[in-house]
Amino acid sequence: MLNIVADFVKSILPAKKKTTPSGWTSFNAPCCVHNGESADTRGRGGLTANQDGSVSYHCFNCNFKASYQPGRHLTFKFRKLLKWLGADDTDIKRLVIEAIRIRELVNPEEVKQEEEERIEFKARDLPQGTISIRRLQSAKITEILPGLLNSAIDYVKSRRIDLTKYDILWTDSTEHSLHQRVIIPCIWQGKTIGYTSRAFVDGVKPKYYSHYEPNFVFNTNNQLPDSKFVIVCEGPFDAMSIDGVAVLNNECNETQADIIEALGKEVIVVADRDRAGAKMIKNALEYGWSVSYPVWLETSKDINEAVVKYGKLFVLKTILDAKQSSKLKIELMRKKLYN
Ligand SMILES: [Zn+2]
Repeated sequence: MLNIVADFVKSILPAKKKTTPSGWTSFNAPCCVHNGESADTRGRGGLTANQDGSVSYHCFNCNFKASYQPGRHLTFKFRKLLKWLGADDTDIKRLVIEAIRIRELVNPEEVKQEEEERIEFKARDLPQGTISIRRLQSAKITEILPGLLNSAIDYVKSRRIDLTKYDILWTDSTEHSLHQRVIIPCIWQGKTIGYTSRAFVDGVKPKYYSHYEPNFVFNTNNQLPDSKFVIVCEGPFDAMSIDGVAVLNNECNETQADIIEALGKEVIVVADRDRAGAKMIKNALEYGWSVSYPVWLETSKDINEAVVKYGKLFVLKTILDAKQSSKLKIELMRKKLYN
């Protein structure tokens, strides 16, 4: 069982190949032409499969690498390699499911830790002198609050964020990057690795000012271990209003895709109803994820707006009801809604 992935890869290698005594099998690398290099004709692709079911691939021409280890998920890179070697979508989908089953067999706690250790973000302090809106609400404050703080509180309330779950901050700093903004901490494995901030006064630009390392995925720390799916959205308010994750951008890069897949759940993308949203859907198709086009997309531009109008439970239910995993249907809907 642990060797399912390794056996499959070995079965689709090109017929023309050589195996060295140390266990490397070399063949013409299928990756280079997809990475802007000319096709390999000198057998520079190398694959090694070990007894424990792990496989690694390395191209000595374009330097593409991909690996799999039982207990981990099938990464996007590894799936690309399979595709370039000629595997079809059905086989790849089957292996993704097998990898999840194997993951449950191997000690899940141990594996989870390994997955998380692979990606690190540098710890960063929050700006000095911030006030937690949550704490302010739970304390009995009798003094008169500064007008801007009241506006910040009103803003967060108007976006219907559950303050018992999410800590949102404010500062009286007049520094441009923080003035008239609410600050949302970015948490990774229990530590603060930066923040993103949203202007709450109309006309303040940019709308978001952020300070964190690239590739971060927002709100992975609030995903329940036994939940079957994870909803991927663009902005932090979308994510907070339905406990999904956010890529904080209108595109999801490969590292972010790996972070999301490492959660080991069905991934459902809900894109904003604008031109940028179409990009997220293209990403979803590329990674083989599901996409949902909930009914309220007709009247609301994003998840948060829908939650404000219709409430969290309704929005969640409609997202699940409308989830679509057929590439063809996802593509048809994308054309209908975004053109
Ligand atoms: Zn290559």
